[in-house]
Amino acid sequence: MGDTALLTHLSMEPVLGVAMGQVSVLRLDRTGGLAPGNKAFKLRGNLEAARRRGVSRLVSFGGAWSNHLHALAAVGAATGMETVGIVRGEKSTADTAMLEDARSWGMDLHHVSRGEYRKRNDPDYLRQLERRFHPCLVIPEGGANTDGARGCMAIAGVAADSIPGGARYVLPVGTGTTLAGLVAGLPAGNEVIGISALKGATDLELRVEQGLQACGALSSHCQWQILHDFHCGGFARTHTELREFILAFQHVHQMALEPVYTGKALFAIYQMLKSGAWGPDRPLVAVHTGGLQGRRGYPWLDTR
Ligand SMILES: *Cc1c(COP(=O)(O)O)cnc(C)c1O
Repeated sequence: MGDTALLTHLSMEPVLGVAMGQVSVLRLDRTGGLAPGNKAFKLRGNLEAARRRGVSRLVSFGGAWSNHLHALAAVGAATGMETVGIVRGEKSTADTAMLEDARSWGMDLHHVSRGEYRKRNDPDYLRQLERRFHPCLVIPEGGANTDGARGCMAIAGVAADSIPGGARYVLPVGTGTTLAGLVAGLPAGNEVIGISALKGATDLELRVEQGLQACGALSSHCQWQILHDFHCGGFARTHTELREFILAFQHVHQMALEPVYTGKALFAIYQMLKSGAWGPDRPLVAVHTGGLQGRRGYPWLDTR
């Protein structure tokens, strides 16, 4: 059943001259407790896999500002699972706010060189980690596996019933795992547009196809597409226009965004409405995938 409490309808009050009143925001940032946003959905499937195997230690990878490691640590603390974080790059002087949280929730943090981190998908390296942290389940960076995609199918159930007649869903994309689950979960008649947060992520479409297959999605699933022109300079980069948009949006709609993912997705919607590429009639659902804990890395944001 659709949970209307998780849908925020934006007012007609314009943001930098553009009214966004046809947009409803699906507030995944309000779900998941200590692990808000899409990451908890991705981890749900992996937790089930760990339980099936009788394993109570989860190992995964991420940078010092990784939303995924943050969520893994939180979910571990909530479920009594041990967690191990393999962190990209030698330890600098102080932990980031994100790693501090993860450590306080009991995550065992291992900093590795960038060279070693590059081996994170190498089967030999993974076997080595499995031996070292045995018995454990090793989850890929970002929770990007088939269990992760299947876990994200539940996102569709949160909103689909609240929007009669279908809608255009817009969400930020890193690995495409969340998008694949959403597409697989939504009924035909909807449309899903992913906004790539990375520059030149040419393998994304293929990864989504693989995710859809893993979810057992039929070819009659809803239409989807990834837009590659809203990375704003590359992953975790920003430009002036994006920063101005995020600050204006937050002010007008009293809703927090972060610049890595959700800010770029809402910025893309703003640009598509401004240029007229998207008309004023089709209802838009912006999926707020969370990540707000990462705002602490951006002093220019108003972190009230
Ligand atoms: C990880 C993340 C994404 C990207 O999810 P994918 O499944 O990797 O595409 C989007 N938004 C936020 C806030 C995230 O933390």
